[in-house]
Amino acid sequence: MFDKILIANRGEIALRVIRACREMGIQSVAVHSTADADAMHVRMADESVCIGPPSGTHSYLSIPAIISACEITGAQAIHPGYGFLSENANFVQIVEDHGLTFIGPTAEHIRVMGDKITAKDTMKDLGVPCVPGSDGGVPDLETAKKIGEDIGYPVIIKATAGGGGRGMKVAKTAADMEQAFMTARAEGKAAFGNDEVYIEKYLTTPRHIEIQVFGDGKGKAVHLGERDCSLQRRHQKVFEEAPGPCITPEERARIGKTCAEAVAKINYIGAGTIEFLYEKGEFYFIEMNTRLQVEHPVTESIFGVDLVREQIRVAEGLPMSFSQDDLEINGHSIEVRINAEKLPNFSPCPGRITQYHAPGGLGVRMDSALYDGYSIPPYYDSLIGKLIVHGRDRPEALARLSRALGELIVDGVDTTVPLFHALLEEKDIHTGEYNIHWLEHWLETNLGNV
Ligand code: ADP
Repeated sequence: MFDKILIANRGEIALRVIRACREMGIQSVAVHSTADADAMHVRMADESVCIGPPSGTHSYLSIPAIISACEITGAQAIHPGYGFLSENANFVQIVEDHGLTFIGPTAEHIRVMGDKITAKDTMKDLGVPCVPGSDGGVPDLETAKKIGEDIGYPVIIKATAGGGGRGMKVAKTAADMEQAFMTARAEGKAAFGNDEVYIEKYLTTPRHIEIQVFGDGKGKAVHLGERDCSLQRRHQKVFEEAPGPCITPEERARIGKTCAEAVAKINYIGAGTIEFLYEKGEFYFIEMNTRLQVEHPVTESIFGVDLVREQIRVAEGLPMSFSQDDLEINGHSIEVRINAEKLPNFSPCPGRITQYHAPGGLGVRMDSALYDGYSIPPYYDSLIGKLIVHGRDRPEALARLSRALGELIVDGVDTTVPLFHALLEEKDIHTGEYNIHWLEHWLETNLGNV
């Protein structure tokens, strides 16, 4: 059993992991940059270590600083949260070389899934349905044009190393191919140091449906249904729910089984998410995330399980505490991502919180590291909280979301809360009829009034 876990992250996700450690009787170590000396994760952890200056590159991404912090404090394992080093195979290797445990998948699985071309090939071999497209990387414009003709426009050109919505360009017709191909390559090179790209059929009205999987590393794996994350701005999720409003129990069972079997076959360990586009009853694999997702709480709410606790258990070599038959959906859950951003441009809005009040009551969970007087530093991403609600059904969850958003007070900075109030006035949100483009279209016409 671990006595002490170091959390190589900050903000709400660091608190989330500290909470699981405390309930399991495990000591927690926070790491922080000089800009985060007064952050809530530092105050909540049992111990803390300053690992560098404000810039993420020199603190939360500094592998030597994090390994040293483990040695100083005697932490035996590292939980990476999401972002930062959570999907860095090199980091996992170094952690293991130092005799420490990485709470997450193996370096090999991270490497395979981190490269989107290899990930797609692997999933295809494991029987997971994929978006039609190029067979691996596309070396030059000539080939790209030929593939465009073969699969039919529109197509999307994607950087194999891409992430966070970057390195993707759509070519609506053959005339757009040159520009889209060159830009996707350049973005891949600039942002990820890798200019390899591949091509997929661009689906015009899909939903983003992702399957939560969990493996014990010894050939056993389960699925925890789907999350619908179709409401996106610039390919970034803003509103997530589980179960998906359009997925039938039969579809869930079928795709869930395919995913669980796929990860069982590769002895996957810990939490993972297999992302799909869903159109006209068909699922198309786009990528796998080998970590805990930002939106994991909606799954926790409907299944009543603690995914971080399970991650820690399997990392210790213990079995999962549930089997597929134990997992039954109870009600409906929705999460909204609250960012410190100024509308209408969504420009980051760091600053001092003059007043903070978290909503509460039945079925309300607020995952946030905010407190009265806290200064949001300008160096990191703008997510300042996640409001998660749970209801007996979707209408109850929506009503609860509206009520809880009304209780939330965040004064001193601008936030994306007005966006959610406005969205909750929309009929399509209540009927669940939206796809991955709905929010962008809505923002074009409505943003001025939010
Ligand atoms: P990232 O790793 O940058 O998040 P993904 O491959 O997960 O990139 O895709 C992010 C989003 O981009 C999807 O949720 C979807 O909105 C859009 N997208 C990706 N592939 C396609 C496709 N083939 N057709 C239409 N939209 C797509």
